[in-house]
Amino acid sequence: MKTLTVALPGREYDILIERGLLGQVGARIRAVLPRARKLAVVTDTNVGPLYYNRIKASLEAAGFECWGAVIPAGEKSKNPSQLAQLWESFMDFGLTRTDGVVALGGGVVGDLAGFAAATILRGVAFVQIPTTLLAQVDSSVGGKVAVDLEHGKNLAGAFYQPRLVLMDPDTLNTLDLPQFVDGMAEVVKYGCIWDRDFFDFLAARPNREQLMESIEHILYACCDIKRQVVEQDERDIGLRMILNFGHTLGHAYELAGHYVEWTHGEAVAAGMCAAAKVGVKLGVTPAGVPGQIENACAALGLPTSIPCSAEDYAAAIDLDKKSAGADITLILLDRIGHAVPHKMPRKDLLDLLEDTL
Ligand code: NAD
Repeated sequence: MKTLTVALPGREYDILIERGLLGQVGARIRAVLPRARKLAVVTDTNVGPLYYNRIKASLEAAGFECWGAVIPAGEKSKNPSQLAQLWESFMDFGLTRTDGVVALGGGVVGDLAGFAAATILRGVAFVQIPTTLLAQVDSSVGGKVAVDLEHGKNLAGAFYQPRLVLMDPDTLNTLDLPQFVDGMAEVVKYGCIWDRDFFDFLAARPNREQLMESIEHILYACCDIKRQVVEQDERDIGLRMILNFGHTLGHAYELAGHYVEWTHGEAVAAGMCAAAKVGVKLGVTPAGVPGQIENACAALGLPTSIPCSAEDYAAAIDLDKKSAGADITLILLDRIGHAVPHKMPRKDLLDLLEDTL
C-alpha cells in the first residue's frame, strides 16, 4: 500500500493506492467516518455495472447503509440540473450531516458528486474512489469540485477537500486505450513541470503494458507532486497555476475542434509542445526541450501539434479565467522538470503564436 497525506490545516486527508483496494473500501471509510450510517454512492452508467456491487458489499460489511445514484456517463452530466437531482435524491435517501457521499468514477463523477457533497446540508463528508487515470492523477486530489454552465466549463464550483481518496490501479484495466492515453498527457505534464527523473522514467516506458507494470509508482509520483502544489496554494492564487502547463493553448485546440475532434489529453499534449516552442522563442526554454516533449507525447500516441486559427487562440486566451486584464500568464519551462509563470501582454502572445506555430 502506498499512502500520501495531504496536509491542509484542519482538512488533512490520506490518498491510499493499492491494487485490489476496492475490496477494502468499507473498512477504510469506516476508519475516517466512525459515526456515519448512510453513504450515497454516485457513479455513472459505465462504472456502476463494473464496480458498484463490489464496493456496496464492502461498505455494507463495514456497517454502512448504502444507496447508489447512477448518472449518464459523460461530461454532459456535469450540469446544474443533475446536481439538483442528486440533492433531492440524497434527501429521499435520508442523508444527514454525519453521513457521506462517495464518488465512484472518473473526473465527471468526482467533480459533480464533490460539489453535491459540498453543498447538501451545507457540506457532508466526501470520499473519492477515482477510476480513470485522469481522475487518479489529477481531479480526485486537490479539492476542486464543480459543474459546467452554458457559459463554460467548471464555472460553478467550490474548493471542498475529500476526507479520503482510495485508488485501486486495477480499475484502469477496464479503461479503453484512448482514455488511458488521454490521462497520460497529465502524467507527462507532471514530469515536465516538477521532476526531470520522472519525465525520463516515463519516456523509457512508452506503452500501456510497461506503464501498468509501474502504475503504483506513477500514481504515487503524480499525486505527490499535486499534493505539494496544493499544500502551498490550495485556492489557486499562485503556485497551483503551474499545473496549467499546456492547458491555455490546449483550450484553443479544444475550441478549434469544437470539443469533439480532440480529447482534453490530446489538446494538452499539443498545448505542452506549443508552449515549449513559445518558451524557446521567448528565450525562457532551452532549444532542446520541445523535441523531448514531442518525443514523449508521440511515443504514447498523443498529438504534438493541432491546427488552430488565430481566432481560436484569441478566444481561448480571452476565456482563460485565471488571467484577467490585458496580460496573460503562460506557464513555460526553463528546463524539463521546472515550470515558470511568464506574464506577457495577450497581444504579444497572439503575435508570437502566429509566427511560431
Ligand atoms: P469521465 O469521468 O467522463 O470518464 C471518462 C469515461 O470513462 C466515461 O465514459 C466513464 O464512464 C468511463 N470510465 C471511468 N472509469 C472507468 C473504468 N475504470 N473502466 C471503464 N470505463 C470507465 O472523464 P475523466 O477524463 O475521468 O474526467 C474528466 C473531467 O474531470 C472533466 O469534467 C474535467 O473538467 C474534470 N477535471 C477536474 C479536475 C479537478 O481538479 N477537479 C482536474 C482535471 C479534470
